[in-house]
Amino acid sequence: MNKRKIPGRCVERLSIYRRALLEDRRLCGPSVFSHELAFACRLTAAQVRRDLMAIGYSGSPTTGYEVKRLLSSIGALLDPPDLHEVAIVGMGHLGRSIAAYLANRLPKLRLSAAFDVNPDKIGATFSGVPCFAVDRVAEIVSTRHVILGILTVPAEHAQTAAEALVRAGVKGILNFAPACLHLPAKIHVENIDMTVALEKVAFFACGSHRKKGSIDDHSSTSHSDQAAP
Ligand code: NAD
Repeated sequence: MNKRKIPGRCVERLSIYRRALLEDRRLCGPSVFSHELAFACRLTAAQVRRDLMAIGYSGSPTTGYEVKRLLSSIGALLDPPDLHEVAIVGMGHLGRSIAAYLANRLPKLRLSAAFDVNPDKIGATFSGVPCFAVDRVAEIVSTRHVILGILTVPAEHAQTAAEALVRAGVKGILNFAPACLHLPAKIHVENIDMTVALEKVAFFACGSHRKKGSIDDHSSTSHSDQAAP
């Protein structure tokens, strides 16, 4: 299977299916039907079937999908074969929350280093993650074989911090800073911004699109967008 051919939204939904299969008590049996998984994830059964077919997994019309095999198929696609090391830059409110949230959550992704400029944070450990001075990014990223970075610095420092991570060998960045990063195309960047998401919720929930007449039907959009956590 060519992983690069799987659309980004499908990858997001597969992650959501896995979380539902592992955490939703309604799905605790040995098998699951597409409509049950769809209900738990607020999607359509057709969407679930399409996504699972895309990773080469098909269930039986009479017994559904075998949960163990389904989890291992999703894992084969989503999980890197080896443990991947992750670093976070900026151990403020958000950085520390993320470190606490991620602790032992993703078996194949380990947050192994943090960086900051604040002397009070350098040398400290947050949720088991040691914090280093930001001018040690090159050394620590290379010795700890870090390949993914999380950015939680103020916006004005995001570009410089991202460039330092990339120079050190990081291949992908999850960016929480409200800044558009300019990085080589080979670096995969995912931006997460709560304000954008909240504005979108407000836009659809409060019907401002109707007043402006800019969107005729948001029902499918809002339904499918519930897939994003
Ligand atoms: P904060 O001020 O609590 O933390 C910022 C941390 O970055 C501090 O510890 C500071 O010492 C450190 N820092 C500053 N410059 C640095 C540099 N050059 N290198 C390394 N570390 C540096 O702020 P916060 O509330 O944790 O927010 C952090 C970032 O996340 C901000 O850009 C904020 O706008 C953004 N944010 C995004 C979301 C979202 O939904 N994406 C939500 C909240 C905050």
